[in-house]
Amino acid sequence: MMLDISLALRSPGTPIPFVHKEGLEDTVILGETVTFPAPAVLKGTCSIVDNALLIKGRLSVTAKGTCARCLSPVDYPVNVPVHETYLRADPREEVKDDPWEERLVFTGTKVDLSHLIMSLVLLDLPIRFLCAQGCQPLEEIIPEEELPSKDDNLDEAHPFSALKQLYTKFQEE
Ligand SMILES: [Zn+2]
Repeated sequence: MMLDISLALRSPGTPIPFVHKEGLEDTVILGETVTFPAPAVLKGTCSIVDNALLIKGRLSVTAKGTCARCLSPVDYPVNVPVHETYLRADPREEVKDDPWEERLVFTGTKVDLSHLIMSLVLLDLPIRFLCAQGCQPLEEIIPEEELPSKDDNLDEAHPFSALKQLYTKFQEE
């Protein structure tokens, strides 16, 4: 969705309060799907300073993921400060669709905030979602001392231990 900045353009230097809502598409992080049931909300001010548009405020949205340990659904609240500058682009200039060009620009009286919002949300999301409490990985559920030791019982578990005992006995004689 586009944010109308005509009020800010009419009174340069004056911060104009706004609330902007942006629906976010599902995204996949390390093979896990993350969804956003409600639109992201960017609340703040926009102002024209020199030839740039200054966006200040706070972005919040709830991301729904899956706990990497127990696979139950996890809500992750994104709540980050926003402080970005959009440069005014010349509409007569041919805009090349360069995927490496991360410059934030605006033309006319509307600005597209979707890329900024998605980038900020993705930067804030954890690599792995985890339950807040009461969730432990399997290796922590079984205490270390209750797990069979790797070395102590080797002889008893070893299929050739009986043979080894015979050999030792033979040497002693
Ligand atoms: Zn969990």
